[in-house]
Amino acid sequence: MSPHKNVAVVGAGIIGTCIAAKLVEDGHGVTLIDPLEPGRATSYGNAGGIAATAMAPLSMPGTIRKVPGWLMDPLGPLTIRWSYLPRLAPWLWRFWRAGTPEKVEKQADALAALLKRTYADWDPLWKAAGLDTLIKRDGCLRLYESRAAYEADEPEWKLKRDRGVRMEIIDRHEIRQLEPQVAPIYELGVLTPEWNWVLDPHRIVTGVADYATGRGLRSWRGKAVAARIGANGVEAIVTDTGVVPCDAAVVAAGAWSHVAARWFGSEVPLETERGYHMTLPKPGVEIRHTINLGGWVMTPMRMGLRLGGTVELAGLDAPPNWKRAEVLVERAKRALPGLDATDASPWMGHRPSLPDSLPVISASPHHRNVYFAFGAAHLGLTEGATTGALIADLVAGRTPSIDMTPYRVDRF
Ligand SMILES: Cc1cc2nc3c(=O)[nH]c(=O)nc-3n(C[C@H](O)[C@H](O)[C@H](O)COP(=O)(O)OP(=O)(O)OC[C@H]3O[C@@H](n4cnc5c(N)ncnc54)[C@H](O)[C@@H]3O)c2cc1C
Repeated sequence: MSPHKNVAVVGAGIIGTCIAAKLVEDGHGVTLIDPLEPGRATSYGNAGGIAATAMAPLSMPGTIRKVPGWLMDPLGPLTIRWSYLPRLAPWLWRFWRAGTPEKVEKQADALAALLKRTYADWDPLWKAAGLDTLIKRDGCLRLYESRAAYEADEPEWKLKRDRGVRMEIIDRHEIRQLEPQVAPIYELGVLTPEWNWVLDPHRIVTGVADYATGRGLRSWRGKAVAARIGANGVEAIVTDTGVVPCDAAVVAAGAWSHVAARWFGSEVPLETERGYHMTLPKPGVEIRHTINLGGWVMTPMRMGLRLGGTVELAGLDAPPNWKRAEVLVERAKRALPGLDATDASPWMGHRPSLPDSLPVISASPHHRNVYFAFGAAHLGLTEGATTGALIADLVAGRTPSIDMTPYRVDRF
């Protein structure tokens, strides 16, 4: 049998598009299925961080004690809608159980194994797709208003230092030198040179898609609604606009992936951490790094200054609460006193999140020609190229360079 397959990839976000690119590079025939143009869902408006140092899981010892506060403050950095709590409860339970010290160490190791490959996987893809000029390599500056606030984050920094992350602590004076337009309210900063950013996250997806199209990728506009499974596994993906025959399939449908995973007999506790951005087209101030203020960031992009982040646990269907985007502007004005928010545009996206902060990058335990790639949560842009390379390894029958056990679909 030819090593080259006809592969259907469900979902044209950053994850599905990178997978498609790596599969066409391997010589497969690939059809990328999505009702939307590439990169129009969550991958459209993220904060652009190539957050190669972000290996601290979200659930840490003590995190769950913060839940009552999250319920009380609808504009806080992390909030839960009361009406959604009953549906969220099983996920929250698993999230809490993922936060023991031993599990946190293991999850951080598994995240670090992926993140250590970030630039090795992204650099050649950016180059091949002609996207190098959209990558900024000036690092990320995390700012703290007091030493006590930094000390509260020390467990996270320790996890990172233990895994080789380079970090430089700087004082008030050095912050001023690096970022003269930032308000003089920050006592301490941490510079992480390996956390970089892209100037246009949407263009990164369309650029990778264009590159893959140039190498034979076929795009299929339609929503996948079912799978045809025969004696040899998946034979076709059924969409609302027709049937796509295939001899392998990859589910990469972001926060909607649990629906397709079910067609292949896999149940996954996938939730969405909704996040917001505000993009300010003429901010009137300039910053030289991506600036992390804890739960949200300010990223200089080619379309303006993007304020992005925060977490809202409210499911896939609830309408956006635009006040959460507006509050980002209020906070940013504290950090950047001269900020001009004229014509700021709000946006909301659905991060696909599993309770242990790890993605699923996995072969199906039930069907030999089905693969899953979803759940990258806060790191989908960062992990895109690596996820693509790992799925391409699995499809080709190559042994990936890292242990894939932590990312298995049936780990729950
Ligand atoms: C505010 C915010 C800031 C963020 N900042 C960063 C950051 O700085 N760095 C970083 O690395 N990550 C960041 N992220 C996370 C990142 O954006 C996500 O992890 C990533 O976009 C997920 O990509 P995806 O391809 O899995 O999902 P998506 O981009 O959501 O794509 C999924 C696609 O699947 C399609 N789909 C769904 N169901 C079907 C179906 N049945 N049939 C066909 N297609 C289907 C959808 O239409 C969609 O196009 C941020 C996220 C948010 C919300």
